Amino acid sequence: MLEKLSSTLKRTTDKIANAIFLDKNLVDSIIKYLQRALIEADVNVQLVLELTKKIKQSALDERIKGLEKKEHLIKLLHDELLSILGEKKEIILNSKKQNVFMMLGLYGAGKTTTIGKLALYYSKRGQKVCAVGLDVHRPAASEQLKQLCDKLNIPSFISPEEKSPEKIWDKYKNELKKYSLVLIDTAGRDALDSELIKEIEKINKFAKPTETFLVIPADIGQTAKTQTQTFKSAIKITGVIITRMDSTAKAGGALTASAEAKVPIAFIGTGEKPHDLEHFNPESFLSRLLGMGDLQSLMEKIESIANKKELEKTQKNLEAGKLTLRDVKPN
Ligand code: GDP
Repeated sequence: MLEKLSSTLKRTTDKIANAIFLDKNLVDSIIKYLQRALIEADVNVQLVLELTKKIKQSALDERIKGLEKKEHLIKLLHDELLSILGEKKEIILNSKKQNVFMMLGLYGAGKTTTIGKLALYYSKRGQKVCAVGLDVHRPAASEQLKQLCDKLNIPSFISPEEKSPEKIWDKYKNELKKYSLVLIDTAGRDALDSELIKEIEKINKFAKPTETFLVIPADIGQTAKTQTQTFKSAIKITGVIITRMDSTAKAGGALTASAEAKVPIAFIGTGEKPHDLEHFNPESFLSRLLGMGDLQSLMEKIESIANKKELEKTQKNLEAGKLTLRDVKPN
């Protein structure tokens, strides 16, 4: 998952930490390296340029010097990347009322697979979960949902022959009341057309979802922005779920596009298996990309490199008999 970008980011922070003097040539080469990696990961060019411009300005700012400058640069890189990843989506399940999650998305986005993943995720966390198949256009879709849920021991409610989502809901309404979390699978299309909008609006009315997730595959890249905006303008979406994070090096497009469309990413799908789901936390996702526990550890690393260099310098001076009072002066 974004291995190449991750290794570039790690090398970038190392280059900054190890630099003796951040001169213009070094800054230019770091910036170019960073730009290429972000663009290869499909992050919008405009975003990349804005981000690297800020870093360059700061790197060449004469007012901040030495160790302080390195820390400042790494923090800036961290904060800028964090801001393009968007806000954290908190999902707090109501313990007194029933929670209903509705999945939306085009054909093949990963809705059904994600329902299996969410069912497992929340049943492990003590919820009484069930799934309802409201894709009335492809009978095979609800069969697929049932098979998946059976494997996971999650009750599922489907009516493959029924053509009205509302009738399916009414049929199982009383049964559904027994569950603390109901996951709804809806129909997809090749594009969001007026028929699909009408259908979703109807489901919205009778099922009253507490969360409405738009499911988007990572491999569509920056197109995720228009797709999220189109869905968002038609239906209230509370979060995005990005699937297939594992199957593309270009996931940077979908990740940053959701933030651009101002809808937070709730979960990411990292494989085909039911446990391949993560709650998306921009801060910890970024820490992993940067290869550090958190920003604090990154700062400590820079300081330890700086201390090591200082020690080596003192050692050399000692050996050369050039030790001065300044070298041993405590900070
Ligand atoms: P739907 O039409 O939106 O219900 O999409 P499906 O749930 O049927 O998923 C479409 C395809 O994407 C299937 O082959 C899934 O196995 C695959 N898929 C879904 N999520 C992931 C994921 O996170 N990683 C990978 N590699 N494949 C996924």
